[in-house]
Amino acid sequence: MCKQLFFSTGGYSIRKMYLCLLGQFPKVYWRRVVCNNFASPKSLFILWLAVHGRLLTKDRLMQWGIVTDGVCSLCGVDPESVQHMFFQCSYARQVWQKFLQILHINRSSQAFDQELQFAMRMSKKCIAVSKLLLAGFAEAVYCLWIQRNQRVFVGHIQSAEQIVKEIVFKVACRCRDSDIALLLY
Ligand SMILES: [Zn+2]
Repeated sequence: MCKQLFFSTGGYSIRKMYLCLLGQFPKVYWRRVVCNNFASPKSLFILWLAVHGRLLTKDRLMQWGIVTDGVCSLCGVDPESVQHMFFQCSYARQVWQKFLQILHINRSSQAFDQELQFAMRMSKKCIAVSKLLLAGFAEAVYCLWIQRNQRVFVGHIQSAEQIVKEIVFKVACRCRDSDIALLLY
């Protein structure tokens, strides 16, 4: 397998071998948000599912005829979808906007794709706040998905204030000590 490539400069190149084995794939636009993120692995997995539209939201379950009620489990008003739940939903908006306020980011919460684009823009900035925002974004998606499932399977959810505290705690547990002060409110 492309043996001459690894020996082309007279010596064996582990780097060339590695790149060859890795293969060439197009870079996905959301890579910085998911890959350069210190959030917990489980929250990154749920975020990855959300990015790929693979979460079992009610709009998808209705398409398969599994459920007939498509109302959002968080607000009980609008149709449930990834775009709505993160972060157009009135409940989710309270959570996300409060977290943004803690980071002193003045922004109105929009649909998932818009917030993902915003997180991508922030990921290009080498400042502490952008790292905290990326982690908070993943933890918020995870916490809201857990709350959605709590409503469906248990019947109740926590208040938006409690979820904000949980997100801040999760981010604070994994961020650098020098950045914790940015999460105090
Ligand atoms: Zn909703």
